[in-house]
Amino acid sequence: MLNTPPLSNLQTRDIESVLHPYTALHKLKSTGTLVIESGKGVYVYDTQGRGYIEGMSGLWCAGLGFGDEELIDAATEQLRSLPYYHLFGAKGTESAIELAEKLKEIAPVPISKVFFTSSGSEANDTQVKLAWYMNNAMGRPNKKKIISRIKAYHGVTIMAASLTGLPYNHIGWDLPVDRVLHTDCPHYYRFGKDGESEAEFVQRLVKSLRDLIEREGPNTIAAMIAEPVMGAGGVIVPPMTYYAAIQEVLDEHNIILIDDEVINGFGRTGNWWGCQSLGMTPKTISAAKQLTAAYSPLGAVMVPEDIYQAYVDHSAAIGTFGHGFTYGGHPLGCALGVKAIEIYQRRDIVGHVRMLSPVFEARMKALNDHPLVGETRYCGLVGGVELVADKKTRRSFDPKQAVGPQLAKILEGHGAILRAVGDTIAFCPPMVITEAELNELFDRFEKALADTE
Ligand code: PLP
Repeated sequence: MLNTPPLSNLQTRDIESVLHPYTALHKLKSTGTLVIESGKGVYVYDTQGRGYIEGMSGLWCAGLGFGDEELIDAATEQLRSLPYYHLFGAKGTESAIELAEKLKEIAPVPISKVFFTSSGSEANDTQVKLAWYMNNAMGRPNKKKIISRIKAYHGVTIMAASLTGLPYNHIGWDLPVDRVLHTDCPHYYRFGKDGESEAEFVQRLVKSLRDLIEREGPNTIAAMIAEPVMGAGGVIVPPMTYYAAIQEVLDEHNIILIDDEVINGFGRTGNWWGCQSLGMTPKTISAAKQLTAAYSPLGAVMVPEDIYQAYVDHSAAIGTFGHGFTYGGHPLGCALGVKAIEIYQRRDIVGHVRMLSPVFEARMKALNDHPLVGETRYCGLVGGVELVADKKTRRSFDPKQAVGPQLAKILEGHGAILRAVGDTIAFCPPMVITEAELNELFDRFEKALADTE
């Protein structure tokens, strides 16, 4: 049982006035909140001065850690020269131009244009609107449905939350909206049948996708959206043959593949892009989070030339391209994006992630023997530890027991922050973490796990 100390003045004010996202609101008064005041390197500090290893990079985003002076300088410089301008009506800013060029240079597939948003949800929302706009432009007004997956996470706007495949994003919210379909989750441990090999599992998912497309009618489906490694659904790493196999079906029916790189992008999986680690060849890409190393909000949608030409043709036919956000391509975000990418390149962050992944993998694997651990999953420097009620049968805990969130809370007492996504504890440390810090994070996690038994 957790022993919660009385709430501090700041915690009380926090609970009185802030509506906390993704929080068990009914428990807030007993759990309290953790008010963070500062950060340096991979550590954040609360208002009592207690330090925590931030093992989640905040929300999978602060990949360069906290208090990076180069990023702070880039932000200050940009705010001094131009704190705000927009890109509407053919206006431009140097930082947006530079960032778009950088993204095109590092993109995993040929990209012609970059559309900027303020968040990952807005990027995925934009992806859907652009797919509809494209198909209207191409004279295919009925080709509008979007396929997503059970356990996917694509954000929280009405469309992005509809694409998301998690019950708490739908139940009570009147979602998903029409035109969204969910196909199977490529998680072999959880959804593989007894006696089914991984190859047979992939074939079953491919057949199920094909059946869905045929049932709905290929001419009604515009796109499928997928995160290479699925993040908030439980850090699910699909079998290596999965994407190539489903892409064959999509290509057959002229259904484009939207790659949600919001978590995976910028080195997280040991390559610049998650699609490169998982053998996926996308048509369009969404990015956010590590795009600016989280020093400012920013999202991006990247599209190839043939799709861009469809927008140009449509604009010629119906007028202005009527989409854009006041803060999409904010100069602060773009300047930070340019600097973050420059740092990723100069400090060889991808190389650092690759150097640390064997350590990460070894520490993850070592957890497999623990009686509460059903499966560990990892790719580069992102991973998940799934807790189960019964290791033999893979039976999950009753969600009401909130075993994952409780473990995360116990871990705070040991000076580390990880995130419970259901009963999977997610690990996504800043990519600049050292080997010693990474080992310390796992040591603290093991202590918390021991306290949970
Ligand atoms: N896509 C993925 C894969 C995400 O993990 C997230 C957020 O966690 C989003 C989209 C939504 O991004 P945002 O919270 O910036 O709207």
